[in-house]
Formats: sequence, structure tokens, C-alpha cells
Amino acid sequence: MPRTYIGALRGFDDGTDVVIYGWLQEARIMKNVSFLILRDNTGIIQATFKNDEATLEAIKRINRESIVKVQGVINKKSVSKSGIEIKGTSVSVVNEAEAPLPLPVIDPVQADLETRLNSRFIDLRKRNVSAIFRIESSLLWGIREYLHGQNFIEVHTPKIVAAATEGGADLFPVRYFEKDAYLNQSPQLYKEVLMSAGFDRVFEVGPAFRAEEHNTTRHLNEFTSIDIEMSFADHNDAMSMLENAIKSGVENAIRANNDDFEALGISIGVPETPFPRITYEKCIELLSSEGIDFKFGDDFSPDHLRMIGSRFKGFYFITEWPASVRPFYTMPKQDDPRLTNSFDLQYREIEVTSGAQRVHDPKMLVERFREKKLDVKSFQFYIDAFKYGMPPHAGWGLGLERLTMILLGLNNIRETTLFPRDRTRIIP
Ligand code: ATP
Ligand code: MN
Repeated sequence: MPRTYIGALRGFDDGTDVVIYGWLQEARIMKNVSFLILRDNTGIIQATFKNDEATLEAIKRINRESIVKVQGVINKKSVSKSGIEIKGTSVSVVNEAEAPLPLPVIDPVQADLETRLNSRFIDLRKRNVSAIFRIESSLLWGIREYLHGQNFIEVHTPKIVAAATEGGADLFPVRYFEKDAYLNQSPQLYKEVLMSAGFDRVFEVGPAFRAEEHNTTRHLNEFTSIDIEMSFADHNDAMSMLENAIKSGVENAIRANNDDFEALGISIGVPETPFPRITYEKCIELLSSEGIDFKFGDDFSPDHLRMIGSRFKGFYFITEWPASVRPFYTMPKQDDPRLTNSFDLQYREIEVTSGAQRVHDPKMLVERFREKKLDVKSFQFYIDAFKYGMPPHAGWGLGLERLTMILLGLNNIRETTLFPRDRTRIIP
């Protein structure tokens, strides 16, 4: 008899013979009957067994979380909570779990995050933990779908590179045979080169590596970056692409992940577009109206951003950042070169995306390299791509784990990462 997913049992008639496989979540042995609670990726079901001597002996020996096979008959007149159960006819162990478990799956007192991450394979069995990753998958799927619909193609650029994208210190060096190389911190340079190649619109979903020394609740050392780059476009085009992509992601999750939101005990709404926009200089005014002295050219602290963010319901853009805090490839604002055609998408105090119109004139680009005191030689492959017909272009980078974190109201980015890499953790 073929295997039936637990989630599909509802679709069968009362009295149908079925075979199910799953993790034994719990066995409750009563005087005359025993209840086995079985779980697979699609749901939970109770199987009831009469306590004849052989069955009782078998059930007593099965450790929690073992993989078991249950054969039985669907009972739709069940008194169980879900109104459906299996009248078990046989049970066997497919693969035994050791006891005790490193971490309980049914966990009345939530273990601390460190302990959970150490035994992540068990932690992920919990319904309210796996829910996060199902929703994350749907968010990404909705974003991908939207970008495909806008004629973007998905690309894959190298993660082992010779030059630092932004020349910063937050790079992981790797030995590349007889050369020095790094793990890429962003696909920025390559997606821009693809604009010169005439690809028009590209997106990439891939890992980005940052050797950030600080351990915070919103930084990982390896995260998933959703990047786009589009030709004949400016920062305003990039911003509307971003808000629509996020909207599409959220809509898809709301459509597909009802049970997961329920497991998390939350519900989310589709964000209203367009997201409000506020300039960097307006933010300074806002801060000074609250009595905070802020120097033009600095970056905002989380406290500043909390104050600014309190003016908005959810997402908002901060635009026109000063050139001093933006990377070399950012396009200066035409009528005020102290500023740039750039934006950050914020959710309260948390940055979710950075983006901008980019410099496309090779002379201006080299100038910007000099201003930022970067070595032009190590970026030659990139600069060359600007000399032979580079269209104006714009784009952004969106952190998937951060997006999931803020949408689900979680307070640590490790919650939205299967196997987080942070300052101290590389296992598991
Ligand atoms: P922050 O100022 O928060 O450190 P950033 O400005 O250095 O971020 P960008 O280079 O602008 O980050 O990267 C684009 C997006 O990628 C960010 O808005 C964020 O969503 C995500 N991101 C950047 N760094 C990290 C990180 N270390 N861990 C997780 N996500 C990150
Ligand atoms: Mn940024």
C-alpha cells in the first residue's frame, strides 16, 4: 500500500485503509487503549491501538521521535480534537531515536536560542520554528515571481573574488591556489558588469559574506542577499520595483502559509504602497526637533532610527544620503553633489535594503575611486566594463533573513536562519 501524507488523510473516506510514516511525537498508554501521536511535514494525527499484549509491549519500547510506520483505518467519527484519527492495526519502527533527546520537541519551557541552535535538527521539528522557514520560502517565491514578471533574469555570479566590492575590511580571505582571494560581500560589481553586457534586468539570490566583528541581533556573517540591477533606470524606478517585490512576497505568503501564521500566533497584512519617503536632511530636522544634535555626513544610530521610524507605521524609505556614507558606485545628486540618488528601506530602526542609481560615466567612476582612496588597479575588470557602452542603471540589495525577521516581528536574525554563522558559531 502506498504511503499517505498525514495532511492528506482528511481527503479520504471513513473506513479507508492507509499507511502513514512519521515521527512518534508522543505515546499515551491508557488502561485499554494507547494513543500514538504521529507527525510528518504535513501535519499531526492520532493513531489509536487496542492494548493487546503484543501491541502494548511494542509501543512501550518505542522512544519518542523514532520514525514509525502505522497501518490502520481512517475514523472520521473520532472524538479527538481534529475529528479524525487512525484506528491502528499495526505499528513498526522504521528507525529508532535514541533517548533522551538533546532537546524536547514538545517544549513547554522554550529552551534558550544557543541550546536550540546547537540541536537545530530537533529545534526545526517544532511547528512554530519550521513555520518561519516555510514563510521565508514563500516570501522569496513571491519576490522571484514578481521579478520574473518584470522581465528580470536570475543570474549567479562568483562568490570567490579577487577584489573587495567596497574595499572594506569586512572580508573573509581565502587561499585560491597561489593567489589571495576573498568570499564576496555583495554581487554589486558583477551585476553592474552585466548591465554593460546588455542583460538589461538581472536579479540574484545568493550568499553574501561579511566578516563583521560585532555580534548583533541583526547581523550574520553569511546571509542571503536578494539583489537586482536594472538598466535605463534610476533610484525612483528601483524603489518602486522594491516595494512591489516585497508586496508580492507578502501576498504570496499570506496566500500560501495560513497554517504557519497560525502556528506562530500572528497575522500580517499586505504593506500599503508606495512606502513613504523621507530625505536624509529631513531626518536630521526631525532629530533636531526632538533636541538631538546630528552632524550632516554621519550615519544614523539605531536610537536615531528608532526615533525617525516611530513616525511611520511600517516600511519607509530614507533617500538622498550624503556621498560620505555611500559606496563609490553611488550616483551623486545632480543639483547637489554632496548628496546621492540613494535610498535605504527601513522598518522601524532596522535597515532592510540599500539601493541607488549608480554612476555610469567611467571618468566619474574613477574620480569616485580616488575620493574613496580605493586602488583602481584591482577593479580594472569592473572599470573596463564602463568604457565601451554602459547604460544608466540602478539597483538594490535586500537581506532575506532581515526581511523575514521584521515581517514576523522576531527579535533575532538567527531565528530566520537555518544554520546561522555569527562571530562565534560555525557549527552546525
Ligand atoms: P548594516 O548597516 O545594517 O550593517 P549594510 O548597510 O552594511 O547593513 P548593505 O551592504 O547595504 O548592508 O547590504 C544590503 C542589505 O543586506 C542590508 O540592508 C541588509 O538587509 C542585508 N545585510 C547586510 N549586512 C548583513 C548582515 N551582516 N547580516 C544580515 N543581513 C545583512
Ligand atoms: Mn546599507
